[in-house]
Amino acid sequence: MTSAPYLPAARADGSATGPGAAPADRPYLLRCPVCHESYQDDGLRLDCAGTHRPGLLSTEYARDFAPGPGSGPFRYACWLPNAARALPGGAIGATYRAERLGRELGLNELWVAFSGHWPERGAALDTGSFKELETQAVLARLPQRPPVLVVASAGNTAAAFLRACSRQRVDCVLVVPDEALPALAVAGERADCVRLVTVAGDYTDAIELADAIAARPGFQAEGGTRNVARRDGLGTALLAAAETIGRLPDHYVQAVGSGAGAIAAHQAARRLLAAGFPAAHRPDAVSGGLPRLTLCQNAPFAPMVRAWQDGLAEPVIGSGPEVRAAVAAVHARELTTRKPPYAVVGGVRESLVESGGELRAVDNAEAAAAGALFAATEGNDIEPAAAVALAGLRQAVAAGRIRPEETVLLHVTGGGRARRAAAHPPAAVHPDLRIPPGLGAEAAAYLVTGA
Ligand SMILES: [Zn+2]
Repeated sequence: MTSAPYLPAARADGSATGPGAAPADRPYLLRCPVCHESYQDDGLRLDCAGTHRPGLLSTEYARDFAPGPGSGPFRYACWLPNAARALPGGAIGATYRAERLGRELGLNELWVAFSGHWPERGAALDTGSFKELETQAVLARLPQRPPVLVVASAGNTAAAFLRACSRQRVDCVLVVPDEALPALAVAGERADCVRLVTVAGDYTDAIELADAIAARPGFQAEGGTRNVARRDGLGTALLAAAETIGRLPDHYVQAVGSGAGAIAAHQAARRLLAAGFPAAHRPDAVSGGLPRLTLCQNAPFAPMVRAWQDGLAEPVIGSGPEVRAAVAAVHARELTTRKPPYAVVGGVRESLVESGGELRAVDNAEAAAAGALFAATEGNDIEPAAAVALAGLRQAVAAGRIRPEETVLLHVTGGGRARRAAAHPPAAVHPDLRIPPGLGAEAAAYLVTGA
């Protein structure tokens, strides 16, 4: 354990850009989907100030769909918050037609959006996951003198923030479970502005500590799905794929933990459709030309699938040892979010209903088989969550839900990590602070912040 407490010196005064400090060069509004209140963006706002049921703020752009030069996410600066601060370059994945995999599945037109590392295909996300798309957009959205960003992660998000914040010199605290440390090795060198804290426990313990830290003066929760930049950043994967395909796909398939990526894809598709972009080839009466979402979770922990199938208002997720055991048993740990934005206005359920979509659960054996199939037919490794998505696609085809002639976009949300590790052997990652078991979140937050 290194010396603690600490507070990054640059922000020891707790300075932040407060209300009314929104720069005039942000040509978009934040809109509440519940009360329809709008806000100038200060780069930090996560929620509507109104007292009503929860809803996800969304960005409202005056600009048309006008991709810029280059191939990174800021090619879509037209639909990203605070394009004025768009970072140079930036990395994005690649979309290609997967003919061999399509033949294996019985699909004539299968496209893969590969959000990972695959240089030969042009996919340049070096931490191997789509989380890099959201981090780049989140950092671009920040005001000029941001508070210290606090991020809880099960692994991939922390790796993406570690890399991006180190490169952009943005102060942040990353909180991850001990077991997630190896996943950070892909992120490369960590700058001093990035503090790393591990907790003995799982993702939920990391979230509790991050919440307690973010409540301190001078710190700010990154916000997860509530952060409009996260969703719009993730949405660039759909925008890029649609540009490559030339129209919206009939089906969009992705694995979901929080579902932020799926909400983002749906929103991006809605925007494209409204902007006159060619609709899905075989629109049905429900979706009206929007891609139908097929979202996949990993049994035995698939709370949104159960909520969807049983018509529940909210997923029912306990907190006892049986839940921890279920979480520990899943193949794709990234998908074990316990508070997914399912029922909130603008959330997962609404996206499914609007698109005529569905949720599917796949078990560990199906996921492992799907991962092996991808490696054998396409020649690259994919993350467990992406294998869950491919297994769900297989199920949907077998069930006749997705037909052979339809255009399918499979979002491989992570991959190429083993391939990259072979070329760049990852180095061990050491946290600044390890929170021992049994220490409450408040006490641990004091250790981290000294306040
Ligand atoms: Zn509101």
